Amino acid sequence: MARILKASGADSPVLREAAAILSSGGLVAFPTETVYGLGADGLNAEAVAKIYAAKGRPATNPVILHVEGIASAKVLVSQWPEAAQRLAERFWPGPLTLVLPASGLVPAIVRAQGPNVALRCPSHRLALALIRAVGRPLAAPSANRSQHLSPTRPEHVASSLGEAVDLILDGGPTEAGLESTILDLCGERPRVLRPGPVAPADIEAVIGSIDIWEGAVKMGDMQSAPGMAERHYAPRARLELVEPGRGCVSSGSRLAYVAFGALPALPEGVRGISLPLDAEAVGARLYALLHDLDDAGFERILVERPPDGETWMAVRDRLRRASAKESA
Ligand code: AMP
Ligand code: MG
Repeated sequence: MARILKASGADSPVLREAAAILSSGGLVAFPTETVYGLGADGLNAEAVAKIYAAKGRPATNPVILHVEGIASAKVLVSQWPEAAQRLAERFWPGPLTLVLPASGLVPAIVRAQGPNVALRCPSHRLALALIRAVGRPLAAPSANRSQHLSPTRPEHVASSLGEAVDLILDGGPTEAGLESTILDLCGERPRVLRPGPVAPADIEAVIGSIDIWEGAVKMGDMQSAPGMAERHYAPRARLELVEPGRGCVSSGSRLAYVAFGALPALPEGVRGISLPLDAEAVGARLYALLHDLDDAGFERILVERPPDGETWMAVRDRLRRASAKESA
């Protein structure tokens, strides 16, 4: 198992060791305010290749570079539009990722060979301290095997990645619990590619009207759209979305039923879990709950469709992906 170490602050020996590992091309998992990231020196293509190997991540899926602020973001892009400046001033450090045209500094592997780069400045103090200590942007996708649940606690990283990571920095449970909102600023109109903790309305309050990529909002099942059957963020147990309030007919000790608000009557033996009608609180708990149900040996998890409305968009997106069938 990888070592899990607590870092007390920016100049603790543990943080210095983590920075040294990253500077010499190794991998360190660290907490951010969203989920735990699997970090590597984002300007070192060989180091970033280790992330792809450790996660089993397809080379077609680019990684986000984590920076310490606007100045260090600007050198990684060939254009820094007014919208980027306004959004970064408003939401950084924080869970908003901006996709922009990359500068020549960004290795092709980071961009998955494309022209653009995704950038974000995390607000977690350990993440920021680590980026500063290394003095370079850190590539850091979620610290889990590809397609699996993202980690919100250091133990989740250890059980998913094992020996593949050199060190895991322990910052306790993450705060937001869902991955960052991703906003593409390369097209004619800004577009949300992945819903997350920063809501579209909050972005629109800063830069005006934006689009939301259709795949991010549709609640229908992903399998029906060929080429889009991306099972992602999924627990080992089979996760199925069900109509709210109907309950279930099957029973068994390995079946869990998750409701938003009050639970319906359930057959004996079914574990009922009621989540609050508060999207932010659910976001913070969702992955940890699914990890716990996996660890407890549950085989099926029935989850009621979450409420409509924009505040629930990120939770709906993750549950839809988690319930998509394994891609062929
Ligand atoms: P993860 O950090 O595991 O949540 O994955 C990062 C996600 O960011 C990827 O799956 C992409 O959806 C998105 N992303 C990263 N880089 C880019 C980019 N250059 N263009 C568009 N999306 C990106
Ligand atoms: Mg991920």
